[in-house]
Amino acid sequence: MPRCKRRRVQTARIFEEMITYEEALRLIEKHVEPLGKCEARLEDMFGAYLAEDVVATMPSPQFDNSAVDGYGVRANDLAAASSETPKELKLVTAIAAGAPSDLQIESGQAVKIFTGARVPTSCQAVVMREYCREENGNVLIECTTQPGENIRRQGEEYRKGETVLHVGIKVTPPVVSLLASLGHVRFPIFEKPRVALVVTGDELVEPGHPLKEGQIYNSNAYGLTAALNALGIKECTSFIARDTREQTSECFKKALEQSDLVISSGGVSVGDHDYVKETLEALGAKTIFWRIAIKPGKPVYFGVLETGGKRKYIFGLPGNPVSVLVTFHQIVKPAIKKMAGGAFSASRSVRLKTGARLKKRPGRVDFVRGTLMREENGDSAAIPTRGQESHMLSGLAKADALLHFASEAEQLEPGDPVDLTLINWAD
Ligand code: AMP
Ligand code: MG
Repeated sequence: MPRCKRRRVQTARIFEEMITYEEALRLIEKHVEPLGKCEARLEDMFGAYLAEDVVATMPSPQFDNSAVDGYGVRANDLAAASSETPKELKLVTAIAAGAPSDLQIESGQAVKIFTGARVPTSCQAVVMREYCREENGNVLIECTTQPGENIRRQGEEYRKGETVLHVGIKVTPPVVSLLASLGHVRFPIFEKPRVALVVTGDELVEPGHPLKEGQIYNSNAYGLTAALNALGIKECTSFIARDTREQTSECFKKALEQSDLVISSGGVSVGDHDYVKETLEALGAKTIFWRIAIKPGKPVYFGVLETGGKRKYIFGLPGNPVSVLVTFHQIVKPAIKKMAGGAFSASRSVRLKTGARLKKRPGRVDFVRGTLMREENGDSAAIPTRGQESHMLSGLAKADALLHFASEAEQLEPGDPVDLTLINWAD
């Protein structure tokens, strides 16, 4: 009886020390600041975040132009036109895209015009080529038209001086196109963080080398590097720290010197060989949080180090390979996004149905690895993948979503609604 009581008290204490997932995100948002700005060429800025508003240097469209290949006309001329009684108009000229066109047409006349070509002000509409045929220098048109039809008006998308995109938007292919359409060669963007990795563990061996008994391959450094690459962070140095205070400290010192963000794996729990938290604190880092009520990934550490007028961030992730990548996706990725100048947001989630019975103990949000299936009625449901333990990479490798099995929930039945994050390494 007394033993049982003691265990209950201890359990309660451990749970009290964990913060919720939402609180962890709130603290990250509060403490992480965007890095500096730089200018980048359009060719090099994909995946970055804009550091200034995009203000239109010209209206869009720049001038009235044709939306189709066809014939520019005066709308009234076609009032009685039909396929039985086509209207014949005199063809005065042809205007190709890129050509100037200040010509005046009069009633009874038409111009042949191509998509993107400037429409003369005297043309009130453009009739699609499909309703017209040419004969002896004239054009026969088989339909009526309205003023403005098939004309893309100057400034209808935006005017000169208007803010077209706001600072902080991610540079995607259409953003690059838009900047080019305004004539920019370069544009200010936020810098991406320089990242260093510290993987801890006496048991780690690099792939390509033979394993001795009890050893395992260092998979975390490779998975994390790939995750950083997916965010456009091409280079990151990786240190392996053996499980001593000295080595752990040495590696973190070097990593902090050469980066804005250090991500570590392993050594952050409460084991005898876990030195990450105490080392970082000894190096002067301020612990913002340690331990989140999530599964996998409970021991995640987040700290900030102010050094030489600069602020550096440290995420101490757990060692288990699935925990590393799930916490990277759910916790580190939003922080990197804010450092890189994006708006802070948790990974995007949607509400769908769960496709299987799930059980767990209350107290932590369980990020269940799942795949999305289309059911016969057209609804989508999320099915857990095989291999849900935090050392089972195959279960995460096959997943395309993380189901948020809510903290206090103990059971989910097939058909129950569930929030889930679509796994997206690139955003
Ligand atoms: P730890 O948190 O250091 O106790 O590590 C938890 C588990 O993750 C242990 O089974 C470790 O062997 C494993 N682990 C730690 N680091 C790595 C790594 N870099 N690659 C693969 N597994 C790791
Ligand atoms: Mg370890």
